[in-house]
Amino acid sequence: MSEKRDYYEVLGVARDCSSDDLRKAYRQAALKHHPDRNQGDAAAELRFKEASEAYSVLSDDQKRATYDRFGHAGLGGGADFSGAGVNDILNHFQDMFSDFFGGMGSPFGGGGSNGRRRRQDRGQDVRVEVELTLEDSMLGCKREVPVHGRAACEDCSGSGAQPGTSPTSCQQCRGTGQVTAQRGFIMFSSPCARCGGTGSFIPNPCGTCRGSGSVERQRRVIVTFPPGIDSGQRLRVPNQGMPGPNQTPAGDLYVDVHVAADERFERQGDTLGTRLRVTFATAALGGKAEVTLPDHTQVGVDIAAGTQPGAVVLVRGKGMPRLDRSGRGDLHVLVEVMVPTKLSKHAKKLLKELEEELGAAETHAAS
Ligand SMILES: [Zn+2]
Ligand SMILES: [Zn+2]
Repeated sequence: MSEKRDYYEVLGVARDCSSDDLRKAYRQAALKHHPDRNQGDAAAELRFKEASEAYSVLSDDQKRATYDRFGHAGLGGGADFSGAGVNDILNHFQDMFSDFFGGMGSPFGGGGSNGRRRRQDRGQDVRVEVELTLEDSMLGCKREVPVHGRAACEDCSGSGAQPGTSPTSCQQCRGTGQVTAQRGFIMFSSPCARCGGTGSFIPNPCGTCRGSGSVERQRRVIVTFPPGIDSGQRLRVPNQGMPGPNQTPAGDLYVDVHVAADERFERQGDTLGTRLRVTFATAALGGKAEVTLPDHTQVGVDIAAGTQPGAVVLVRGKGMPRLDRSGRGDLHVLVEVMVPTKLSKHAKKLLKELEEELGAAETHAAS
């Protein structure tokens, strides 16, 4: 084993540096030599261990004082990280790393070699699909949405303890959820096996959920769909997902909306399209007609004289509601002209006369 370098030299700090400077220096060194960034680089691993060892000593006031007076010899070889595994070191500094990196987990990309356990502090999100009619969408509605999966046990209100009893502090870990073991110089902590890291223990588990606090069952969640909701949109209902482990908050429920097609209407965002059949006379002379909207309200449509088949009449503000409550889109009415298929003798006579008259007018107009 080669001669140990001076800890201050390793971290590149002055002998009288503050604990703040120490942290900064170690953070820099740890980032640079982190095993996740230097896969298979033995030299970097050594530097990482060296910096970690230096920091573990200098960040402890008592050990730092000992080291300042007696050097490496004063620590009696207890502070040797060279034989420690990288994972042990990472676990040892876990709190500090999460501090450094704002609790974002590994800054070196997920699934690194450090194997740190990400604490789960809420339940899983759940996704369901709901189909609505165009009428539902136009008016807005409330629906009871069935959600399958684990849900808080109703008998123990999710505590896992038999009604009338309550969880106690775990004796194995004294309620901390962590047990520590010493290997050489370093104290390693790991989740307590008896309580699963929760720190609490249930002496009388609830019979219904066997102490887990949740059971597999179907729930019904009332979801409010705002007017104007459209296919492909997603609503979030907070805290209606899976129950969180160990009394932590539940996840969220995501509701994916599908608005069923309605053959009478076409929809594009807040614009609504529909067809209107008018008689030949109305198309030619002009007049009033009515269309029925998905919410069963009637809307008057002005047909101008001489309206051609296939013409589109725009009715402002009678389309679908906007989600931001800024009003409604427009209604586009496609005009179809009805051609009668059953004609009485009299009607035929009138039409012939009309044709002659119109034909004369056409000829007159054309000449
Ligand atoms: Zn229960
Ligand atoms: Zn425990």
